[in-house]
Amino acid sequence: MSENFEAKTLDSLINMPLATIDIKDDCGITDVPQINSKRSNESEWIKSDEVKKRKRKLKDYQPNYFLSIPITNREITGGIKILQNAIIQQDKRLAKAMVTDGSFHITLLVMQLLTEDEVNIGIDALLELKPFVEEILQGKHLILPFQGIDTFGNQVGFVKLAEGDHINTLLEIAETAKYIFQEKGILAGENRSFKPHLTFMKLSKAPWLRKNGIKKIDPELYEKFINHRFGEEMLYRIDLCSMLKKKQNNGYYHCDSSIVIDELESSSSAVLQSYSKDLPNWPRGEKNGGEPDDAELVRLSKRLVENAVLKAVQQYLEETQNKKQPGEGNSVKTEEADRNGSDRDNNRK
Ligand code: AMP
Repeated sequence: MSENFEAKTLDSLINMPLATIDIKDDCGITDVPQINSKRSNESEWIKSDEVKKRKRKLKDYQPNYFLSIPITNREITGGIKILQNAIIQQDKRLAKAMVTDGSFHITLLVMQLLTEDEVNIGIDALLELKPFVEEILQGKHLILPFQGIDTFGNQVGFVKLAEGDHINTLLEIAETAKYIFQEKGILAGENRSFKPHLTFMKLSKAPWLRKNGIKKIDPELYEKFINHRFGEEMLYRIDLCSMLKKKQNNGYYHCDSSIVIDELESSSSAVLQSYSKDLPNWPRGEKNGGEPDDAELVRLSKRLVENAVLKAVQQYLEETQNKKQPGEGNSVKTEEADRNGSDRDNNRK
């Protein structure tokens, strides 16, 4: 059975509600040509063994890793903290149900990675995802505006994404990620449809609340924020995170790998300006207090190279200008290079 077939079979299984799966039928193993009875018996045995293994695998499917889009814009996280405090003011016990600072994120995909080898396959899959995401974005920034509140069954409280095309783009990225991870044989995805959300509280964080009579998140608790605009986040990184490993000191999940999606090139966008205002301790890899990661170092090196090239061009232009007669120079180009240089500096503020 080819790896491709296996992945596709698992894909279709994972996309079905587990309780209704008829593994045997779904695997479609009856397609294997039957040549003679001995071979047929052997292949029957192999088939049933494969089916059993697959069945066990699916039964034990318990996601322990996920792809995360970190949400760090302080306008958003600050707004969420105000919301959380407003809820806690109404019922102090709910403090234990709040998602802690530093760990706000959007989950793109959940998966199961049980061994070091599987984690390494996951890391490869994430690297493979990068050019696909860039292709989907076609050089544009993906801006995610957050507005309003909703819950999953009154158990999980989350900030919603405002309506718009960005949701389709995010769905496309999530679908692509699922496909790439599953093609590598990783058990990934859920049997419910992907609904991007930014969780700020969940009752499951404090199971004792239920015993104390808090079985639901009362909509009155967040009614003042029902249409509140929390701000925008630009997709700049996707992390492969563990659900179970100890979190980092900054409150964010343990990450085994990250991809940085886009360079901040233009200083003209309002969003970008609000970012620089929000990031006193730029660069981003350091803003949560941790060491810059590999991706961050690559970004910084890229910037250094860009600056060096820019300086060399400027120097060349200045030198050639000096050789020319007055009035012959190309000051426009020089100014442009200067302007580019200061644009880049502004980005860093
Ligand atoms: P997350 O913000 O991804 O950590 O998700 C918070 C909680 O919401 C988790 O317990 C998820 O199982 C749950 N959840 C995520 N997506 C859905 C969904 N589409 N329907 C119901 N619950 C969900």
